[in-house]
Amino acid sequence: MKLSQASESEKFMVLLYYCYTPIAEPEKFREEHLLFCIDLNLRGRIIIAAEGINGTVSGSKEACERYIAFFKADTRFGNIDFKIDYSETHTFRKINVRVKPEIVHSGFANISPNKRTGKHLSPKEFKELKDQDNVVVLDVRSNYEHQLGKFKNAITLPIENFRDMPAHADTLQQLKGKKVLTYCTGGIKCEKASAYLLELGIEDVYQLHGGIIKYGIEAGGEDFEGQCYVFDDRVAVEVNTVNPSILSRCHHCQQPNQRMVNCASASCNKHLALCHSCAEVLAGACSETCSHSQDLRPYDGTGNYARVSNGYNPLVGWKKDKTNS
Ligand SMILES: [Zn+2]
Ligand SMILES: [Zn+2]
Repeated sequence: MKLSQASESEKFMVLLYYCYTPIAEPEKFREEHLLFCIDLNLRGRIIIAAEGINGTVSGSKEACERYIAFFKADTRFGNIDFKIDYSETHTFRKINVRVKPEIVHSGFANISPNKRTGKHLSPKEFKELKDQDNVVVLDVRSNYEHQLGKFKNAITLPIENFRDMPAHADTLQQLKGKKVLTYCTGGIKCEKASAYLLELGIEDVYQLHGGIIKYGIEAGGEDFEGQCYVFDDRVAVEVNTVNPSILSRCHHCQQPNQRMVNCASASCNKHLALCHSCAEVLAGACSETCSHSQDLRPYDGTGNYARVSNGYNPLVGWKKDKTNS
């Protein structure tokens, strides 16, 4: 799937956005926001917290334009930034709006980007700065993301979750005295990650505003190796139209391959790069062992399995709350 302006003829838009801004009554905001999304027939995942909002949604162009206009008209969201991509279909199956303590689970909830964070760099500024002397580029994303693609020469952390970042404080301390440029998918993790680096005593901290996605749109994705992992049905998108390359290898045969699947064993469900031929041999599983597991799901050639519903119904809480008020 390509990320480019050339695909504007496609009928659907995919919006990626976040905004750190105080939201006084997150639950109330959630109810209204959910109804608004249903009204627009948007699908996706939105997280609302007292510290702000974070979402990815897909919808018709008209609906997405109305959605963007809604935020632009509200002064609380003055610095919101939308990354816009295009698609032939919805990229989510339903709409899910939740209230959580943080808009990205970071493990450093006491750090507020509303107070202090790294200096924002536009994609062009990031491109100019990243190869200069005494500059370090730091990927703040997780293993399954940077294994699929990352900036050339970037430092990565061996983390399964963003919240594990503080476990690598010692490694990060060694970046003192350097100019540190952080990046992530859409910019949101960097708001806290760069604030955290400042807390660690690293003084010269910058962040790629709008993340890899915006860098792909505005700077051609230059020097981004491999694909960018995304959190919707597309799984991965191409961002580099300048000097693209393949970074990830098949988990099994080690040949260059960037097709991501989930292990066909439901209990394993590991997310990994697996080529077509190895997947055929292993019945879509990550290993011999998993290919013989009791809960092996039928492999249909895609490696995507419908998530078992956890009973979440976006309207349940709303109806109850309405009758109480
Ligand atoms: Zn293979
Ligand atoms: Zn497995």
